Amino acid sequence: MDFYGWTQDEWREWVSSMQLPGFRGQQIFDAIHRQGATRFTEVKGLPKDLAEKLDADYQLCPIEEIKRQTSNDGTVKSLLRFHDGSLAECVSIPTAKRHTICVSSQVGCPVGCTFCASGKDGVTRDLTAGEIIYQVLFHHQQRPVTNIVYMGSGEPLFNYDNVLKSISILADERGLGLGRRRFTVSTSGVAEKIKQMAKDEPQVTLALSLHAPDDETRSRVVPLNKKWPIEKLMQAMDEYSQQVNRRITLEYVLLKDDNMSEMQAALLSNLAKRYKAHINLIPFNPVFDTPHKRPEQEDIDRFAEQLHELGANFTVRGQRGADIDAACGQLKDKTIKNG
Ligand code: SAH
Ligand code: SF4
Repeated sequence: MDFYGWTQDEWREWVSSMQLPGFRGQQIFDAIHRQGATRFTEVKGLPKDLAEKLDADYQLCPIEEIKRQTSNDGTVKSLLRFHDGSLAECVSIPTAKRHTICVSSQVGCPVGCTFCASGKDGVTRDLTAGEIIYQVLFHHQQRPVTNIVYMGSGEPLFNYDNVLKSISILADERGLGLGRRRFTVSTSGVAEKIKQMAKDEPQVTLALSLHAPDDETRSRVVPLNKKWPIEKLMQAMDEYSQQVNRRITLEYVLLKDDNMSEMQAALLSNLAKRYKAHINLIPFNPVFDTPHKRPEQEDIDRFAEQLHELGANFTVRGQRGADIDAACGQLKDKTIKNG
């Protein structure tokens, strides 16, 4: 059972079905979300015999951390194993003011971007709402979480219902109570669901993984572009930005000789202006076998200078966790290879 993915109402219904008073469900919900309980016997206020019986009958937390890497800059990357043996990663990124968690939404990814380890072997399954939420609660025990980004493995908008459920439970006042503005959902461009997001979660930040501003390059690098080419995607983005008054982010992995020409800088800058978007430039992290090359510092500087002259709003992302396989999917990739 997906205990971590249950709302307060679902908890009350479950305990009621066992002839227990509804407040017992509430107690368990509070203990999971606020106190880090991973067994029924750790739930404060639950009678001992009841808690022991529940632990004997059910496994409250069927998720285990099987590998961890800690970077010099404090970034912690954990590889989690779920009840069926599936693996996915989550990353804790602490800064002076924030504690951001990067969560996975699927086991693997069906999109298969050519620079990304997560998509190399396709997708195994969607993660449940509880499996997404657990990635946050797991790190919350070390330090209170302030922000959540759906940028681990998987395409969150292909697992739309579970992703939205995880947001509403993590935002629940009796849970972590995180404001919706603290969530960022990153998508490789599922046009239909982008439009849906504008209606369902207008306060959540949307990050679009653009990676190339022309169809020829983008279809090669982000295969989903064949289904929703740039013009279709931009129609969805137009609709989105008419309804939602929040700044959009454009993610752009810098791939030497692929997406860093002067023409591409101009096209990228136009798109960013159309949505008053902020561009995140992410130098490619080449830790596995891909056809792509990491740009030299001078390539990055040149592209940044062109964007600057065009008046675009952008940041070159620092390499958090560069020493620990921080690009998504890499820790899992290594574990499978090395056994
Ligand atoms: N599937 C969604 C969300 C997860 S991927 C999406 O694509 O938006 C999130 C980000 O991981 C990508 O946008 C990209 O910025 C980053 N990423 C993946 N592989 C990378 C690599 N090898 N080097 C640098 N960034 C990478
Ligand atoms: Fe999937 Fe995102 Fe990786 Fe592309 S970048 S393969 S969409 S996880």
